[in-house]
Amino acid sequence: MPLSIFEVEHSTAPLASSRRRALLADPGFGRVFTDHMALAIWTRGHGWHGASVIARKPFILDPAAGVLHYAQEIFEGMKAYRGQHGTINLFRPEQNASRFNASARRMAMPEIPEEMFLDAVETLVSVDSDWVPEGEGSLYVRPFMFASEAFLGVRPADEFTFCVIASPAGAYFKGGNKAVSLWVSGRHNRAGPGGTGAAKCGGNYAASLAAQAEAYEHGCDQVVFLDAVENRWIDELGGMNLFFVFDDGRVITPPLNGTILPGITRASIIELLQGRGVDVAEEPYAIDQWQADACSGRLVEAFACGTAAAIADVGRVKGSDGEWSIGDGSGGNFAAAIRNEIIGIQRGLIAGPAGWVRQVVG
Ligand SMILES: *Cc1c(COP(=O)(O)O)cnc(C)c1O
Repeated sequence: MPLSIFEVEHSTAPLASSRRRALLADPGFGRVFTDHMALAIWTRGHGWHGASVIARKPFILDPAAGVLHYAQEIFEGMKAYRGQHGTINLFRPEQNASRFNASARRMAMPEIPEEMFLDAVETLVSVDSDWVPEGEGSLYVRPFMFASEAFLGVRPADEFTFCVIASPAGAYFKGGNKAVSLWVSGRHNRAGPGGTGAAKCGGNYAASLAAQAEAYEHGCDQVVFLDAVENRWIDELGGMNLFFVFDDGRVITPPLNGTILPGITRASIIELLQGRGVDVAEEPYAIDQWQADACSGRLVEAFACGTAAAIADVGRVKGSDGEWSIGDGSGGNFAAAIRNEIIGIQRGLIAGPAGWVRQVVG
């Protein structure tokens, strides 16, 4: 790794290693945090400055900070994995850097040089490397940026804070892989044409939560969102992309038409399948067709994908117009094979395409 521009000031009160190890034994997801955070500030006229890695602590934020009123905020989600022989790896982190800047452009926020984004992530992961779990766990890394200027007028802010925090995560599916159930949101849409669906911004998640609450009420794990124009075409879940596998070996995933988030796991799966000669098409797929194909048996598997869970089988779908299962509702071999391949590449156990794994420590 080249010399970092993030000045490191080590925490004077890191968690005792015995307590850290106890937390790492069962960290769950998103509730335990490492000792440090990376930070940088952007101000109009000055650009980026103050790049540092310091002890993790609360922000001091003015009550008029733009993010609190107009939600000018974006984020990324990536993972550091323990590979073999003491290495720690990131999976395609430059993809996260470039997507972060695409999100920034959509939200009228400043871009951050890709090398600086990677520097922040890699410096934090090396400083907090003791927090990367062994075994099936990983260190979830969360870069984000928000409007920190105190100003209530409506315009792009003049000051932004960039920060990276990290959170150890256990195996996503405790007690083995379990197929998820989906609720078809007939009332709520996540994104529309010309909107922010393709940007990884907090606002999209805020807009998805009422539907998520509805899913829980109906005994489902996640929401499948439909397009906002016809309420018919499948977009994606609140935070994962979808794939459909047919009995003739064909695979479909909805196209990147501006309303879905361009997942890095999604892109990686497409590339791996194409390399294997699988016929994978990015084409629209309708919810009524999904029901018909699941019932006729033409559709054999469906799975969701994203950094947090890697790949999750979809077992059951429920909407106001009916309910159906995919296969026997417990997932399938196709998704399992892809899951093993992706996870194997991320952990450095299987050689993937050149450049997919970036070694941070080791
Ligand atoms: C982050 C995200 C995904 C998954 O993207 P990955 O790069 O695969 O983690 C899918 N959908 C939404 C809405 C997301 O925010």
